[in-house]
Amino acid sequence: MTLDAHYFDGRSSRRHSVSLAAGEGCLLLDSPDGMRIIPVADIRVSEPQGSAPRTLRFAGGDAFCEAGQGPELDALLAALGYRNPVAVRLQGRWRWALICLGAIFLTLAACYFWGLPWGAKVIAPHVPVSAMHSISETALAQLDGSLFKPSTLPEERRRKLLKGFQALAAADPDLAPFGDRLSLNFRAAPRIGPNAFAFPGGQIVLFDELVRLHDDDEEIFAILAHELGHLSKRHGARQLIQSSVIAAVAAAWLGDISYAAVAVSTALLNSGYSRDMEREADDYAAILLRRQGKSPALLANALEKLDRFHQARQRGTASRSSGTETADKTGEKNGSGNTASDDEDEDGIEKHLDWLSSHPGTGERIRRLRENPESADR
Ligand SMILES: [Zn+2]
Repeated sequence: MTLDAHYFDGRSSRRHSVSLAAGEGCLLLDSPDGMRIIPVADIRVSEPQGSAPRTLRFAGGDAFCEAGQGPELDALLAALGYRNPVAVRLQGRWRWALICLGAIFLTLAACYFWGLPWGAKVIAPHVPVSAMHSISETALAQLDGSLFKPSTLPEERRRKLLKGFQALAAADPDLAPFGDRLSLNFRAAPRIGPNAFAFPGGQIVLFDELVRLHDDDEEIFAILAHELGHLSKRHGARQLIQSSVIAAVAAAWLGDISYAAVAVSTALLNSGYSRDMEREADDYAAILLRRQGKSPALLANALEKLDRFHQARQRGTASRSSGTETADKTGEKNGSGNTASDDEDEDGIEKHLDWLSSHPGTGERIRRLRENPESADR
């Protein structure tokens, strides 16, 4: 079997019609000038590029042959013992291409959903508390200039809550690295409502609205124990590490136009703690409460009140008559001339706060704390 091809001697652009055939470990090149025998080891075959002819270059000069792609060339190359590289062979098969694409997608998804959280969990305890503390101080200062207002709780009440908070924190040696960076900060946030938040640097913010919603201080301590859980397990630091990695990867990958992508990724990861983290903080709180001879059901009661409040608020029926100073969100938007950006600020920060983001799993958490409080010891 022979294959028609064109031969270039490397010295001129003139092409010569030749025929190619496979011999024993060699290529037989038949031209009007005679027969050339070229050992297979001296031949370099180009990779297929679309429908362009493939070249067979010969060692020891610039001479080469060009042959059109097709079954004849494939048969000749096969007879010479030539095999396309693996990547080329896979490219030619759409099933393999799809499988490879799927494998890449699954790998990236696995990195995103498991690898990244795992890495952040490993790294978080080693990030200096001082670094997290200064980042958190900046964030807190920004919020103090916008959404947060000074607390109006009576001094006496604040002192009592602070004392209880310090007793709780002292019950967990794992909080020792925070030292005096661990603090309870009283703020009012009428536009946000009853909430609490633990910054990864050790600053826990407790809103007046939450204090007023709970007439029983023990329930407030249960909430603070849960917030201490987020700190002790470094949940905030883990979230921060994950968003930073996503932002850095997106920036490196997409360049300057990546602002939107970075914002989306960061928002995705920052849209509250995961359900696992909430459960972990609940378990932690249950242990801490029991160490003080208290019942984990206190946290269930607190959760129930918060859930009831936020559900009512979502329905637009919560009002000052609920016993808090929290304004009705709908009324605010309609009545007081807030700008659109104010509303965006509010919606943005709500996602970062603890007790709203956990809403979908609240019922399950309450049941878990009430029905099986011993689960916390596992
Ligand atoms: Zn939480």
